[in-house]
Amino acid sequence: MNCKFDNHFHSTFLANWPKANNSYPFIIAGPCSAESKEQVLATAHELKKIPQIKGFRAGVWKPRTRPNSFEGMGEEALPWLACVKKETGLFTAVEVANPRHVELCLKHGIDCLWIGARTTAGPFAVQEIAEALKGTDAVVMVKNPVNAELSLWIGALERLNASGLSKLVAIHRGFSGAENNIFRNLPLWEVPLELKRHFPHLPLICDPSHIAGKRDLIERVSQMALDMDFDGLIIESHIAPDQALSDASQQITPSSLQEMLTRLEARIPSCNDHSYEESLEKERARIDRLDSELIEILLARMRVVHQIADIKAKHNVTALQINRMDRLMKNRTEYAQKIGLDPTYIERIFQIVHAESVRFQSDRMAQVKNEVKKPC
Ligand code: PEP
Ligand code: MN
Repeated sequence: MNCKFDNHFHSTFLANWPKANNSYPFIIAGPCSAESKEQVLATAHELKKIPQIKGFRAGVWKPRTRPNSFEGMGEEALPWLACVKKETGLFTAVEVANPRHVELCLKHGIDCLWIGARTTAGPFAVQEIAEALKGTDAVVMVKNPVNAELSLWIGALERLNASGLSKLVAIHRGFSGAENNIFRNLPLWEVPLELKRHFPHLPLICDPSHIAGKRDLIERVSQMALDMDFDGLIIESHIAPDQALSDASQQITPSSLQEMLTRLEARIPSCNDHSYEESLEKERARIDRLDSELIEILLARMRVVHQIADIKAKHNVTALQINRMDRLMKNRTEYAQKIGLDPTYIERIFQIVHAESVRFQSDRMAQVKNEVKKPC
């Protein structure tokens, strides 16, 4: 993937981002929605007492899945945020979904804008926002799109960057598809980690509130993000969470947030200790060998798939036999469970392995058909 980003994040705002000083992890907190001046200011003053909190978030225009739910207070709420900044010194962050939102936020001195997950999924809207921001040096945080499509997330960052914006931050808030899952949005950590691999200098923060969807999972998700070397967290906090007009079940009071932050363990990205390096190197060498064996086993498996493809092609049988697939998945996951491996992990791997096998067989059948058709 080509790297189009300006990798220099020089602003004083971003100089405060984690790892640049000892305030790691960098925390932004605030209510899902700004509901009243009293609620906004009371929450902000409580959050201000927590040293790690540098920024105050609040949704002013709320993208709601269904109509007739609370859609935010709109422009009326922006002066409340200006008051937060004046009274607490916290920087302010608001979600924008169109050029009008951008214009109003800039007019009211909002420090940082974020693009929500539903908006990131729409290149037209992102392009309009990027154009509205041209010529400013705004700090823009881009949430991942609702669907797990890394290139859409990167595309949104690129559109902003092409408009001359370089103070960019990515927010991981999980992905749709979490029905019957403990999370509201699936974390799919591999997606933000791929983003980090391609753009190591792009600050990446996690939104555990929208991943978790409920209070008691926020701490676990936050710790996972810190363990994965995220640069910071954006957490929803409300002075009276149960009365919140949006996302009530995932908001926490400033005091529970403070307690949670004292329990979180901040890790260091690396360590110069000799015994650490030595023992890690040894284990990594073992992992490297095992991974080579794994790839060789996958090659051997693929060779068998070739044989199966020829047998099926000869008898014009479908590449997929759903009963066989069902038995295979059950057998592999049960075996995993029996020997102490997480069956859902093995299930995900075998979904890929089996889909590749079916794809190969289908290609092979098309090839055989063409060979038969070819005149001698
Ligand atoms: C929010 O941060 O309140 C919000 C609407 O988030 P998302 O875009 O992640 O759903
Ligand atoms: Mn919310």
